[in-house]
Amino acid sequence: MIVAVDGPAASGKGTIARALARHYGLPHLDTGLLYRAVALNLLRWGGDPGDERQALKACDFSQTDFADPELKSEAAGGIASRISAYPAVRAALIKRQRDFAEQPGGAVLDGRDIGTVIAPDATAKLFVTARPEIRAERRFAELKRMGLAVHIEDVLLDIRARDERDSSRAMAPLVQAEDAVLLDTSELGVDAAIAQAIAAVDARTSP
Ligand code: C5P
Repeated sequence: MIVAVDGPAASGKGTIARALARHYGLPHLDTGLLYRAVALNLLRWGGDPGDERQALKACDFSQTDFADPELKSEAAGGIASRISAYPAVRAALIKRQRDFAEQPGGAVLDGRDIGTVIAPDATAKLFVTARPEIRAERRFAELKRMGLAVHIEDVLLDIRARDERDSSRAMAPLVQAEDAVLLDTSELGVDAAIAQAIAAVDARTSP
């Protein structure tokens, strides 16, 4: 069984995808980490995020530690959302994601284009979203916990800019797949959101 979980930044899709993977005993891939790793490679090499060829060179993960906390930084996220618009970068990362999705036994993947491009035949698809103000509050709380001094207004601006870039790019934009179940977590606590996600996947997989 392949479970595709898509949605905008800080919608709760990562938490939901991890919980689904635990519940069904499946491996999980946070595909945003791949784009963040490309961004961090570029940052560390002093590469130009405005240059598609340099971004493509940064798709080499031979030195990447996917547990590096810097991958979660706002700097890596912001550049990730710029370089992820490049067709060459997206093409370079497709095989890794498809191989993960198609492994025997199945998998849970979360990202922006899992249900539309990476695994269009996924068994179950969720599109997780929440109002931008709510997502900004969640990201703000997370950044504060990490000890980073930020203003909530800046976090909201960043979220809106990221939404705009991810939704308007020509290749694999952030859109809800036609057959995806919409899960708006604006008014839901974590446990309730996870319970609704499990119910949605069960509904797709029960005979
Ligand atoms: O999900 P996360 O915020 O970690 O993703 C970082 C950026 O990577 C996103 O803003 C998006 O531009 C890009 N991304 C993507 N396709 C995916 C996952 C992430 O374009 N499947």
